[in-house]
Amino acid sequence: MSPLYGGIEAGGTKFVCAVGTGPEDIRAEIRFPTASPADTIQKAVDFFREQQEIMRRPLAAIGIAAFGPLDPDRTSPTFGYITSTPKPGWQNADLAGEVARALNLPVGFDTDVNGAALAEGRWGAAQGLDTVLYLTIGTGFGGGGLVGGQLMHGLIHPEMGHIRIPHDRLRDPFEGACPYHGDCLEGLAAGPALEKRWGARAETLPPEHPAWDLEAHYLALGLHNYICTLSPQRIIMGGGVMSQPQLFPLVRAKTAELLNGYVQSPQILENIDEYIVPPALGAQAGVLGAFALAKDTL
Ligand code: ADP
Ligand code: ZN
Repeated sequence: MSPLYGGIEAGGTKFVCAVGTGPEDIRAEIRFPTASPADTIQKAVDFFREQQEIMRRPLAAIGIAAFGPLDPDRTSPTFGYITSTPKPGWQNADLAGEVARALNLPVGFDTDVNGAALAEGRWGAAQGLDTVLYLTIGTGFGGGGLVGGQLMHGLIHPEMGHIRIPHDRLRDPFEGACPYHGDCLEGLAAGPALEKRWGARAETLPPEHPAWDLEAHYLALGLHNYICTLSPQRIIMGGGVMSQPQLFPLVRAKTAELLNGYVQSPQILENIDEYIVPPALGAQAGVLGAFALAKDTL
């Protein structure tokens, strides 16, 4: 009997908890809004306790794919903590530790984007690849993934949304929305930046609105930098903003144009439609990423 995992997709807005083994086998799922750490963690713990009783078997491990910044370093005293988040109440919350102690189970813990990259690699759009990026462009701009088969950690974990990119203030006078950097990539291109710049939520802007050409320009500048620094074999782009279907062709064309033939790979020169792609696992990427983190912790 293959081991059964618990997965937590810990988002800033909602938590999704699930029990299962993979995409074809999600046996139970619950979602609830992210409230205080104590209340939210208790809800998750109650769900897993109840599921173990219903299924009459223990879970093998729990995986948590969480919003950040967080500490994914197992050797650190604050491993498993959400660290410097602006989200009220969650600063220095010991998310993984509380879950591990309450359920007495091993817990895998990483960023939501690293989890999603792992899941896409195992079951989705990055199967067979060892160096891939997963980007999400939603309320924030996050990026993670694998380099040479290893999830990217290093000093802490990548903060790909906060890179600096050229900002032509004649074309775009908007000063940027990042509380730390103003016009970093997240500050120019995540959902709240679109809303502030154009005075309307991104999902209400029509496909022919100039917002999308500018958005694709910023995203392509980001991709150019990631391609030149990390040499990913594929880039997966998800999040609310990327659900605008007109963005993918624009981003692909602008990325190729910026690279200007310099990176001599057929993936970019001939096959860019399969190089810059949407997630294959859709809304399930979060909990599946958490299952993958659970499995890898054993
Ligand atoms: P979260 O980042 O909280 O997990 P989302 O990925 O849905 O959630 O991101 C929410 C942001 O994405 C908001 O700023 C919202 O305006 C924007 N957004 C959501 N849906 C769409 C859409 N269909 N088109 C463009 N922008 C969207
Ligand atoms: Zn920033």
